[in-house]
Amino acid sequence: MIPQTFEYTAPKTLDEALELLAEGAKPLSGGMSLIPMMKLRLAAPDHLVDLGRLKDLNYIREDGGSLHIGATVTHQEVAASALVRAKCPLLAQTAAGVGDPQVRNRGTIGGSVAHADPSADYPAALQALEAKFVLKGAKSERTVAAADFFLDTFLTALEPGEIVREVILPVEDAGTGTYYEKVVQKASGFAVVGIAVRIKKGWARVGVTGLSNHAYRALAVEKALQGGADVQHAAAMVAEGVDANSDLHASAEYRTHLAVVHTARAILAAMSRMA
Ligand SMILES: Cc1cc2nc3c(=O)[nH]c(=O)nc-3n(C[C@H](O)[C@H](O)[C@H](O)COP(=O)(O)OP(=O)(O)OC[C@H]3O[C@@H](n4cnc5c(N)ncnc54)[C@H](O)[C@@H]3O)c2cc1C
Repeated sequence: MIPQTFEYTAPKTLDEALELLAEGAKPLSGGMSLIPMMKLRLAAPDHLVDLGRLKDLNYIREDGGSLHIGATVTHQEVAASALVRAKCPLLAQTAAGVGDPQVRNRGTIGGSVAHADPSADYPAALQALEAKFVLKGAKSERTVAAADFFLDTFLTALEPGEIVREVILPVEDAGTGTYYEKVVQKASGFAVVGIAVRIKKGWARVGVTGLSNHAYRALAVEKALQGGADVQHAAAMVAEGVDANSDLHASAEYRTHLAVVHTARAILAAMSRMA
């Protein structure tokens, strides 16, 4: 199908882009989610502002004990980055499993985070990593924790005119084991359920995608693991307090079952990677 007619601007600077966004234009990054939605007429923006060519949003660097990833870094760049692989292996592993090579070469971390698809992979890892997002508008900049960012299906804490400028991640301790485990929708690569785990002695973080209307931290699982519960017992709590999604890929009951089974697998795999 053919999208509705729209204006397209490729600004040379971030300030220019933010001015246009403040006037109501819509950001375009990799176009992997937005363009299909426009073709299906589920989205019909009048004006697209292409962030993908802005060099000052394309970086991966370590600074002050954290990793900083600019919004237009592609999934492939995250997966291939020696720095991310060494300092934040959970994110590199997650990025390597997104979609297919075409999607990974075009899609961006900022676009994925902003789109907030309830079956997207990054949000599980970003919840487990307690990531922070730098959100920038024409006259503002603020930092929001992942726990406060993903609000509902395709709904985030972004205000009109704001973009995700940067993702901030912790540098992983040497002793921490991490793993991302997903049940793949075979047609797309999206997660029917996806479980991201970081674990070390007496401490655990667990992020979940696909099960609910947005990615979340499975606090009950974390607490059980930290209290010394066995893996199966802890994993059984992954859907606590959550309304499970039901769609053509999996009923709520089956999805919950998958989440429990794959949470246990993810925990065991992360444990096996502890130094
Ligand atoms: C065939 C296919 C398979 C896929 N498989 C997977 C998968 O297995 N796992 C997975 O997680 N994802 C998957 N995706 C989605 C993919 O990861 C997209 O890249 C991602 O969801 C959106 O990133 P993008 O850069 O393409 O954003 P775009 O499509 O350009 O934009 C998406 C939305 O975010 C907004 N936006 C873009 N950038 C920003 C920004 N910096 N700040 C604020 N708003 C912004 C846009 O206005 C739009 O509303 C798949 C997509 C396709 C087409």
